[in-house]
Amino acid sequence: MTEKSKVYISYLRSKGPRTNKGAKIRGLFDIAGFADFIAQNELTAVKLHVGEAGNDAYVSPVLVRQIVDRIKQAGGRPFLTDTNTLYSGSRHDAVSHLETALAHGFGMEVTGAPFIVADGLHGGNCKKVKVDLENFDTVHIAGDIVDAGSMIVVSHFKGHEMAGFGGALKNLAMGCAPAVGKKAQHDLCFKVKKEGCIGCAACTLVCPQHAISLDANRKAEIDASLCIGCGECLTVCPKKTIEIDWETEIDPFLERMVEYAYGATVNKKNKVGYITLVVNVTPLCDCVPWSDAPIVPDIGFLASTDPVAIDQAAYDLVKAAEGLANSALGKALAAGTDKFMHMHDYVDGTKALAYAEKIGMGSREYELIEL
Ligand code: SF4
Ligand code: SF4
Repeated sequence: MTEKSKVYISYLRSKGPRTNKGAKIRGLFDIAGFADFIAQNELTAVKLHVGEAGNDAYVSPVLVRQIVDRIKQAGGRPFLTDTNTLYSGSRHDAVSHLETALAHGFGMEVTGAPFIVADGLHGGNCKKVKVDLENFDTVHIAGDIVDAGSMIVVSHFKGHEMAGFGGALKNLAMGCAPAVGKKAQHDLCFKVKKEGCIGCAACTLVCPQHAISLDANRKAEIDASLCIGCGECLTVCPKKTIEIDWETEIDPFLERMVEYAYGATVNKKNKVGYITLVVNVTPLCDCVPWSDAPIVPDIGFLASTDPVAIDQAAYDLVKAAEGLANSALGKALAAGTDKFMHMHDYVDGTKALAYAEKIGMGSREYELIEL
């Protein structure tokens, strides 16, 4: 029988300063035992997402400060980090990424630690990591993440147009990979079923690569040489006429993602902690330049040393909550409904958790312990 992992939760009710949100984060850091694996003077990566310009659903830098302070108290030297995006948005290279981070409050004055783009100016700071798994023998991970001695992975749990939902595993997989690694994970071919296209041009406006244009008959077409497989176009097409071959392509995509998550942690055995905020659960990734209304009421903060267990717990909590009508769900959904599959019915994100468990990243069986 698989051993149960511990997932600690702090719900959001607060009755005074001892239970404010900062205290909850500090309490979770302590009870999950993160200080135990941080060595003196060790460079500790705080892996986070500073949000695409226009998105404000990312984890608040004020809460990140609590983690930074705890790492320092444990003797570590924290730095905040993320990798550049594959698409041409506001975090495509280290300069625009740093500018976006500062604009979103991730300066030293607030967070207490420098923000370093882990894969360098254009993704060139990259190391090959041996994994010997089904899809990859080696994966490409950002150099500064490989070189960090320990890591705290801070995630905002939300829906995701390609992975179903995004939490710790997604943060590790795409989030720790330079462009070459992100491309290797995506490796999907998108096309437009022209008979269904009404020429509304919504996809052309949202495509970060400007890969879509309308032909002479006002039918959308995708330039495969520019497409990076991000899936943004899928989310806006009113006729659901942009597709990949979901039956054959989506499960291998989830596996590739998980193998990258494995590669991001393989040299840090028992040296990674996870904090996930199950609040403001938006339907899409924080990489989109907007933040839609949350799909469920705010739930709480989680901490664990097991990325599979913490994602499973976050997923279960969202599933158990009532779905909000004034959201991308389109109607109120009863507690117990899979909100992510309701929105993105082509992908079952729990398959990624099953695969992560299969390759030894953690356990889907967990004990939820309230702080
Ligand atoms: S998946 Fe769609 S939105 Fe993303 S780059 Fe390709 S065509 Fe553009
Ligand atoms: S969003 Fe869909 S319907 Fe509109 S132009 Fe693009 S493919 Fe056609």
